[in-house]
Amino acid sequence: MALSRVSGFHVCSARQCTEVARWAVIWRNPRIHQAREKTWLACEGHKEFLAEFVALRGFPYRIVPVSELGEPVGQSAKQVDPRSLTAEERKIFEGGV
Ligand SMILES: [Zn+2]
Repeated sequence: MALSRVSGFHVCSARQCTEVARWAVIWRNPRIHQAREKTWLACEGHKEFLAEFVALRGFPYRIVPVSELGEPVGQSAKQVDPRSLTAEERKIFEGGV
């Protein structure tokens, strides 16, 4: 059976947002860490907002689909709002882990 693993969901990193994250803004601050990257997760609505925040500071960044990240991050800090999930995802969510 292929359906044995439910890995949970990524949640948007924006303050007080609990929407499911579809994007990751990966950035770094060259003045502090040359190589170490930070990852911010973003829902559809916060993608531009978070990218702009980083861009305004002149930090290099890139945006990748969350599916490229592998394991979920950030879900221990807050729970995803089930309303932001697709019907199919909600089924997995409500099925529990
Ligand atoms: Zn958000």
